[in-house]
Amino acid sequence: MPTGPVRAHVGLGGNIGDRKANLETAISRLGETPGITLVARSSFIGTEPWGKTDQEWFLNAAIAVDTTLSARQLLETCLAVETAMGRVREEKWGPRIIDLDILTYGDALIDEEGLQVPHPYIAEREFVLEPLAEIAPDLMIGGKTVRELLNKD
Ligand code: AMP
Repeated sequence: MPTGPVRAHVGLGGNIGDRKANLETAISRLGETPGITLVARSSFIGTEPWGKTDQEWFLNAAIAVDTTLSARQLLETCLAVETAMGRVREEKWGPRIIDLDILTYGDALIDEEGLQVPHPYIAEREFVLEPLAEIAPDLMIGGKTVRELLNKD
């Protein structure tokens, strides 16, 4: 069966160092990866820390890509970019240089060890929905559009 590229969305965030430069670097590295074409990018949106509030504000963004990589390969690419940029996983929800999350991968529903798509927290996190709504307001997630999820309250 012929398969073309899949449209996927990746959420980015960070709250250490030059947050803008770190987002730019991560977006460039993803876009330069063979099998990934950058299609759209949101603005950078400053957001309050979530979960653990005694830390710097985050800068968040979302991008749309077309990719010939599998979802698992896309995840591995995201994790490799995080690691290459010096991310050390320490405390949950703690400060981070860069965090990359696969928000959607086509209309795939994936629930595997280490990979859940759509990303389970999209619907309840404005810092994901807000940038995503800039580039994909009509994207359907769990039966609702991103715009509806963002405007629900
Ligand atoms: P965190 O750094 O807290 O976002 O957690 C990253 C871990 O979440 C990774 O090691 C992944 O295995 C796992 N994970 C599960 N689903 C996803 C997803 N959709 N995008 C990115 N990471 C995911």
